[in-house]
Amino acid sequence: MNTPEFSEKYSQLIGLIFEQMDQAYHQAAASYEFFCNGCEDNCCETRFFHHTHIEWEYVIEGFNHLPKQKQDHVIKKAQQVCEQSKELIAQHLPVRLMCPLNEKGNCLIYTYRPMICRLHGIAHELQIPGKPIQYTPGCEAFIHHCKALKKEDYYSLDRTPHYIRMAQLEQAYKREFQIDQRFKMTIAEMLI
Ligand code: SF4
Repeated sequence: MNTPEFSEKYSQLIGLIFEQMDQAYHQAAASYEFFCNGCEDNCCETRFFHHTHIEWEYVIEGFNHLPKQKQDHVIKKAQQVCEQSKELIAQHLPVRLMCPLNEKGNCLIYTYRPMICRLHGIAHELQIPGKPIQYTPGCEAFIHHCKALKKEDYYSLDRTPHYIRMAQLEQAYKREFQIDQRFKMTIAEMLI
């Protein structure tokens, strides 16, 4: 991979941020009694873009822990996903392709998966200073699950502190490794 060495320091720091994120997500999920058991609208098929170099490095760290044979298989799938995505985009068709790191419904790099893979699904809010609070309703399965709930059952999963911590760590990382490009890639693109 053509990226600077991902130091132990950054690996630990992003791991801590993800721990806090997972805790916040699980608290919210428990309060709604919502448990993701997989569904037809599998979010691992969504063409999510990831926006930080530190998540990229962490994904690669997870990938590097896989056996060589598995790595080769994942890379092959990532190449296919990138090629098929290009074709679908050229035909103005929606892109829904399984993430190359998903194997039989399980994430091969679960501990190292990026932020959106951790937070997706549950209703959340974002508090940007000077702007009204942005509310996002969650995935289809979550919305369906919550139909019977009352307004007072609303639990605020505020993503703001998590986004801020990620942005601060990304800034520190970019400063240290003198990176000035912005980052925007899918998992398949990160892998190839
Ligand atoms: S990285 Fe893991 S959780 Fe995220 S989309 Fe891929 S398989 Fe799913």
